[in-house]
Amino acid sequence: MKISRLFIDTDLEKERNRDESLNREIDYLISKIGRTPEMVGDSREIYDLINAADDPVTVAKTILYITRNRGAVVRECPGTSIYTCCDYTILHTGTFCTMDCSYCILQAYFHPPVLQYFAGLDILSNGLDEAFGQEKILRIGTGEYTDSLIWEPVSPMPAFLVEKFAGQKNAVLELKTKTVNVNSLMDLDHNGKTILAWSVNTPAVIGSEEKGTAALSARLAAARDCAAKGYKLAFHFDPLVIYPGCDIAYANVIRTIFDHVPPEDVVWISIGTFRFMPQLKPIVEKRFPDSTIAYGEFILGLDNKMRYFKPLRIGLYQKLVRVLRQVAPGVLVYYCMEDQEVWEKTMGFFPAKDGELGHMLDKAAADKCGLDRRLL
Ligand code: SF4
Repeated sequence: MKISRLFIDTDLEKERNRDESLNREIDYLISKIGRTPEMVGDSREIYDLINAADDPVTVAKTILYITRNRGAVVRECPGTSIYTCCDYTILHTGTFCTMDCSYCILQAYFHPPVLQYFAGLDILSNGLDEAFGQEKILRIGTGEYTDSLIWEPVSPMPAFLVEKFAGQKNAVLELKTKTVNVNSLMDLDHNGKTILAWSVNTPAVIGSEEKGTAALSARLAAARDCAAKGYKLAFHFDPLVIYPGCDIAYANVIRTIFDHVPPEDVVWISIGTFRFMPQLKPIVEKRFPDSTIAYGEFILGLDNKMRYFKPLRIGLYQKLVRVLRQVAPGVLVYYCMEDQEVWEKTMGFFPAKDGELGHMLDKAAADKCGLDRRLL
């Protein structure tokens, strides 16, 4: 994580003088980041600083703001009612990312984006205790508004979460990343309750569209090392980018994954073609002038996102589902945000009932991660 300026919320600074655990967490961050912290009383100062830059998104990736999360720590994922949703739960640990994917939705989602770390492991712990108290299975992830493991080299938070989840039996933690930042997790007693998940793509797409991320070979080597330590894994083919020869290239990625890890260690695989809010396109054009990612055959979906023309999506999915079923027949494969026709023409079924996809994922988590099956 290369940070040029580090800001700390003045309220948080006062609190840490009274709270030893908070003090240790913030000292750890400061020592790892290696910048002298600047105190800031009003977050608008940071927004103004970022907005004044020629390229606010690039600048925002180098300015870290350590603050408190003032909203809900545990939240329902904001899926849509139009496309089948997986009923995921988000643990809100921070926002934005230091890597720089051309297609990243976070560039257009926040105005401006701010790299925020929400300090307070006790707050995460309390929110999780409440969630764990529910009589249901939960799949909880930190990778919705940030990359889960960009924080691992500078914060004790990922390791803390792994150990927190190890002590209960109705939830799995999914840490989703494009990094190889797993060092502090390797020797933890995770009790099978953490799924380490990699977003994967073809080497061509990683090279052209995923600046600052780890190479595919490095991601898979890290996945293999984690599997050797007993961690369960997941892979997310998202976004699939359609280009000439992409079907063969994605099939090769699938085969390479299973050259590295056994199918029984993989809890689920999601697939989803590139989709984007129309307001992302001018940002990609300006920030990534060499990228062609936003120039495919797109139509506006019912959720107001641009998606590849449906026959193109179905054609690619059919090929990839066939390969996945050959090389990893027992692994649950699902779509994030696809409709009935796509499911039926590619998977041969549609999880139509409310909560059915979520239930399929809960069952996979229960079976592979040792959750309490009575809660299914
Ligand atoms: S790794 Fe994820 S969060 Fe980070 S820039 Fe890429 S898409 Fe965005």
